[in-house]
Amino acid sequence: MVVGTPFLTVEQIQKKNRELADMISADYRGKNLLAVGILKGAFIFFSDLVRLIRVPLTIDFIIASSYLKAETSGEIKVHYHLREDISGKDVLLVEDIVDTGITLNYLRERILNAQPRSLKICTFLNKKERREVDVPIDYVGFEIPNKFVVGYGLDYDNKYRNLPYISIFKNIA
Ligand code: 5GP
Repeated sequence: MVVGTPFLTVEQIQKKNRELADMISADYRGKNLLAVGILKGAFIFFSDLVRLIRVPLTIDFIIASSYLKAETSGEIKVHYHLREDISGKDVLLVEDIVDTGITLNYLRERILNAQPRSLKICTFLNKKERREVDVPIDYVGFEIPNKFVVGYGLDYDNKYRNLPYISIFKNIA
């Protein structure tokens, strides 16, 4: 397995995070921001991002995993849902990567059912070519090609999450 070459470097990631945080800070000025991280994958991006946002906020997490039963259908399991009351809050859902969109669409609908004042979505990475469910995304870090990536919170078999950069995962026998 080769994960050594950065596809997105630490410097590119930091620059992008500052840009995203600037947009978010401007958009949420005077609002009641609740930032929600989707675990495990978004844990590093989320913690970097919230430290760069310059408006008061509260945080919460959702732990979700998807089990692909077939190419086109996924079953989402939510292991931990929001503890914060989200009615009247301006919720920003923060994801590591959007692939088919199935996970995010499912979580988005669950959150909308709880009637937040507003809901926006921020993803660090977006694999548009793989989209199966059209889910609106408000802030995108990087558009990436259809490759499996690891690092910066993203895993292969729960490994490589601690790489400080994003690498394209190559499984060589
Ligand atoms: P979706 O429901 O959009 O198909 O899948 C989203 C989830 O699939 C992500 O939160 C992530 O856990 C996983 N995933 C999708 N593409 C990749 C990838 O390239 N690398 C890693 N490590 N996980 C991915």
